[in-house]
Amino acid sequence: MHLYPIETGHFKLDGGAMFGVVPKVIWSKSYPADENNYITLSMRCLLLVDGNRKILVNNGMGNKSKDKNMQYFSLNDEETNLKKSLNDVGFTPDDITDVFLTHLHFDHCGGSVDEDKHGNLFPAFPNATYHVSRQQWEWAINPNKREKPSYPPENLLPLKERVKLFDRDGELFPGFMVKIFNGHTMGQAIPYISYEGKTVVYTSDALPTSAHLPLPYIMSYDIQPLLTLDEKESLLNEAVENDYILFFEHDHYTECCTLEKTQKGAKVKERFRLKDLPA
Ligand SMILES: [Zn+2]
Repeated sequence: MHLYPIETGHFKLDGGAMFGVVPKVIWSKSYPADENNYITLSMRCLLLVDGNRKILVNNGMGNKSKDKNMQYFSLNDEETNLKKSLNDVGFTPDDITDVFLTHLHFDHCGGSVDEDKHGNLFPAFPNATYHVSRQQWEWAINPNKREKPSYPPENLLPLKERVKLFDRDGELFPGFMVKIFNGHTMGQAIPYISYEGKTVVYTSDALPTSAHLPLPYIMSYDIQPLLTLDEKESLLNEAVENDYILFFEHDHYTECCTLEKTQKGAKVKERFRLKDLPA
């Protein structure tokens, strides 16, 4: 089995929203903000190649939504995009057998659907089954008013015939376990992948960056912040105990890290790229 990080570009979000109740004078020491208080976030996906099976975990924002709603996000993916990054490691969208979506917020699943020049929408991975938790699918197609802007229907409806829903924690593919988290949104599914004798956790929005390790550093977007706090505490304890490799989707500066326990809670032990995995 081989894992390839797949960069799909980056965008900007308000740093205050990303760190919730924590004051900027504190969080900005661990994650830099620009003069407008924006912080830069990656959309770093993961490709798992295991024989004929090629699983793409998340797929960024996609290219079809370069419209008025997107101008806030200062997209900067002229040089980096999903197809180019897949190509760089020798694959095309046709090769993907499975697309795994942690959840359906636009910055994680927008690349699932493409648009032709007439505006027709179609699944961007013609040979893939799309996997998503039943809780998240049902939550997203009938969204509450607060999360609704994160679930544009054009990202979801064209996939209707192609999604395979799963209901609970467990092994979805050999060596690919998923665990459901409900603090950020309902039914966010986090992959735990066995790789070279270690476990790689694709933390997605359960732990968006390495600057979110302190327990109260919780995004304002989360629907159940106190549940996020509990879920994060368990994830961090487990990661320290088992020396998990945390792989960050959004952290622009850190691709992976391991953790160590300190008196002040879990801290980063080592930062590295997945290709430089410490022995
Ligand atoms: Zn999200």
